[in-house]
Amino acid sequence: MSSKNHNIRKPELISGWGLYPRFSARKEKPTSINELKSLLLTETLIARGNGRSYGDSAINKVKTIDMRNFNRFLYFDKKTGLLIVESGILLKDIIEILLPKGWFPPVTPGTKYVTIGGMVAADVHGKNHYKYGTFGKYIEWIEIINHQGKIIKCSRDENTELFFWTIGGMGLTGIILNVAFFLKPVTTAWIKQRKLIANNIEQTFKLFESNKDFTYLVAWIDCYSKGKSLGRSVLLLGEHAKKNELEYSYKKAPFKTHKKKKIKIPIFFPKFVLSNLSVKIFNSLNFLFSKITKKNKIVDWDTFFYPLDKILNWNKIYGSRGFAQFQCVFPLSKSKEAIIELLCLISKSKSSSFLAVLKRFGNHENYFSFPREGYSLALDFPINNENLSLMNSLDKITIKYGGRFYLAKDSRMKKEIFEKSDLRIKKFRAFRENELDKHFKSCQSDRLKI
Ligand SMILES: Cc1cc2nc3c(=O)[nH]c(=O)nc-3n(C[C@H](O)[C@H](O)[C@H](O)COP(=O)(O)OP(=O)(O)OC[C@H]3O[C@@H](n4cnc5c(N)ncnc54)[C@H](O)[C@@H]3O)c2cc1C
Repeated sequence: MSSKNHNIRKPELISGWGLYPRFSARKEKPTSINELKSLLLTETLIARGNGRSYGDSAINKVKTIDMRNFNRFLYFDKKTGLLIVESGILLKDIIEILLPKGWFPPVTPGTKYVTIGGMVAADVHGKNHYKYGTFGKYIEWIEIINHQGKIIKCSRDENTELFFWTIGGMGLTGIILNVAFFLKPVTTAWIKQRKLIANNIEQTFKLFESNKDFTYLVAWIDCYSKGKSLGRSVLLLGEHAKKNELEYSYKKAPFKTHKKKKIKIPIFFPKFVLSNLSVKIFNSLNFLFSKITKKNKIVDWDTFFYPLDKILNWNKIYGSRGFAQFQCVFPLSKSKEAIIELLCLISKSKSSSFLAVLKRFGNHENYFSFPREGYSLALDFPINNENLSLMNSLDKITIKYGGRFYLAKDSRMKKEIFEKSDLRIKKFRAFRENELDKHFKSCQSDRLKI
């Protein structure tokens, strides 16, 4: 069917990366501005990038606009690193073209399969938030198309409110067309990686606080450890390697790395693959293996930043019901106590989290972005009744300690919980009421009444 036949396009089942929830929705994939403009004349709509948010933030049942045909490089200044691109371009394509010329994104999420529009709308953070802040910090200006088809340029000096609410605004302020942002210079495509082992939660926090000089820092927590080992973890620290630190053969070609074969999962895994027992065994073995393997090594950018991308559709591992990610952040002063309570509850429960990632955020806040100074914990759970109920309990603990939740990962939170966790919602609602026409809505914004 031609993409211009949008009036008769049939709904299709769409989900986020977690494959939960799934909605029957009308999806359009315009190829030109004129076509995009004609699609805006509808009651409600939302833009979609590469669908790597976990839940329902990039879905509108009436009209979901897939922006991936807007994927051109528009300008690059090799003196300053200023790059202007269309919003549907993938981060992967930017890295593959500009890293060999000595440029890398200042902030990157844990997958390179995201669009720049999605990175702006979620105001993504990386393993360096405590030093570098979020992606939004590096944006010079954004061009947005509103419901009437008007293109509005916004920046720190022009249409300021629109600029700041769009960064982290989850697509609810309009459709991002073009973005100008800065890359950072690097001299190789390699990262000096150091691994540290923490035998309990006290050590985990100590190691984080004493290693903030490193550019990148993240920890994987064994969330099945109990008692004295509760919160044991493997911390990965990273620094961009300099040319003279590389092996002889790479010194001559510091940006050359070997492309690795990607694995593709052909089917949904059956339930027993990620049973409690198998996840427990995986967590223990991973921890023990990390203890005995090399502590310092130089790895290529893809291995360090995007280990999960090795398996193209790893979301199928969780089975056909899908999975949810729970990610929250706590104020610094309450982080340790709060995370201990979350881990105690998880380790006692019958639930299994395959991935538990701890990050330290710095004091860089934006209007509606997720990060705040403190610690953030992210956990994956396959969808079943026990895990849904466990996540409801984790929500309550998060509220108790003044924490908040990451909308790009959320697929199931209740409006009441969201309202208690994030008082900024009142200002965002007011901005949307007064300044926008509220046509931009997603299943998530309907669920949370944003
Ligand atoms: C394996 C994995 C690891 C991740 N790690 C991190 C991490 O470390 N840090 C982090 O911050 N996030 C992380 N994420 C989340 C991811 O970075 C965000 O969800 C990001 O928004 C996804 O981009 P996307 O292009 O797929 O957008 P989508 O998922 O398609 O959309 C996400 C949001 O952006 C909006 N949007 C997309 N394009 C536009 C546009 N052109 N105009 C207006 N709004 C738009 C949508 O409406 C929606 O609200 C991770 C996700 C995965 C799957």
